[in-house]
Amino acid sequence: MNSPIASSPQPEAGAPMVDPFGRRISYLRVSVTDRCDFRCVYCMSEDMAFLPKAEILSLEELDRLCSAFVGVGVKKLRLTGGEPLVRKGIMHLIRNLSRHLKTGALEELTLTTNGSQLVKYADELADCGIRRINVSVDSLDPDKFTRITRWGKLQPVLDGIAAAKAAGIKVKLNTVALKGVNDDEFYRLVEWCGENGHEITFIEVMPMGDIGGENRLDQFYPISLLRSHLGKRWTLQESGHNSGGPARYVTLAETGQRVGFITPLTHNFCESCNRVRLTCTGTLYMCLGQDDAADLRAPLRQSDSDETLLAAIREAISRKPKGHDFIIDRNHSGPAVERHMSVTGG
Ligand code: SAM
Ligand code: SF4
Repeated sequence: MNSPIASSPQPEAGAPMVDPFGRRISYLRVSVTDRCDFRCVYCMSEDMAFLPKAEILSLEELDRLCSAFVGVGVKKLRLTGGEPLVRKGIMHLIRNLSRHLKTGALEELTLTTNGSQLVKYADELADCGIRRINVSVDSLDPDKFTRITRWGKLQPVLDGIAAAKAAGIKVKLNTVALKGVNDDEFYRLVEWCGENGHEITFIEVMPMGDIGGENRLDQFYPISLLRSHLGKRWTLQESGHNSGGPARYVTLAETGQRVGFITPLTHNFCESCNRVRLTCTGTLYMCLGQDDAADLRAPLRQSDSDETLLAAIREAISRKPKGHDFIIDRNHSGPAVERHMSVTGG
């Protein structure tokens, strides 16, 4: 299919980005929109104020920025949001970016999605070279699913997951562990993934952004507790598997199934961090847990040549901090970082 986006030419080759701590930056996560068709209780308040459209990068600008990063060593690109698949024209962007897969400059193009639009897009995503996606599902109970997502319905998401699988895309479930909400479903979620050939990763709630009336202390369910809970049912064997992200994995001895855990609060995964995050307004965050950021929209719009942009990217990488410092305790139940996960895309 022809795409209306005027894509920038092949990225100019540049030296790979290495931060001051010797970490090579090869993974870019891009939030392509802050908007979403769900309002998950841990992520957004119901009356979220979204960014004015004028502030948001166009699809052409997103393509140019992503391509500049590919030119300086990004090998893995993950599109996220908000909900990436509700952005108008998103498939044109994905198709255009897939040219970097064809040249081998990019090793993986993937996305994190709530799955609501997957029935519509699964085949085309597969056709664009997408081999794996993460789909967020916190409950397999339809009523509870709607309570958690406020506006979401479970069945279209399950249909979307099935459509992705049928198209040959591997699915990993992302499940946020929520005390008193889905903690009675952890076994079922693991079993369901085993039965359907999906992986699952459990995530601790992170203190990001104001979420309205919800209290994060009430939601917080430590991954350490989740592991011992799963350990009552299965034998958990430590796995050396590394997906290049913050997840740590175990294998269930009885089934051979792999289960991941992301524990940003109780375990520090910063030492091997190879990633940076770009918002839909062109702000680059060098660390999920810190507020320091670099504006790439101004250099992007300043000139048609990428020289200024690449200089701004390199300057930002030189400021990537060693690590973050999330805390949830009785004195810190508010957000440690003011922005929402939907801004940086998790
Ligand atoms: N809308 C897509 C989705 O839900 O998969 C992509 C964006 S969403 C912000 C990315 C991931 O962040 C989801 O797996 C979601 O569950 C997770 N997330 C959002 N807010 C979070 C929070 N406060 N703590 C932990 N995970 C969170
Ligand atoms: Fe939307 Fe994803 Fe946030 Fe849920 S977690 S509100 S689906 S962006």
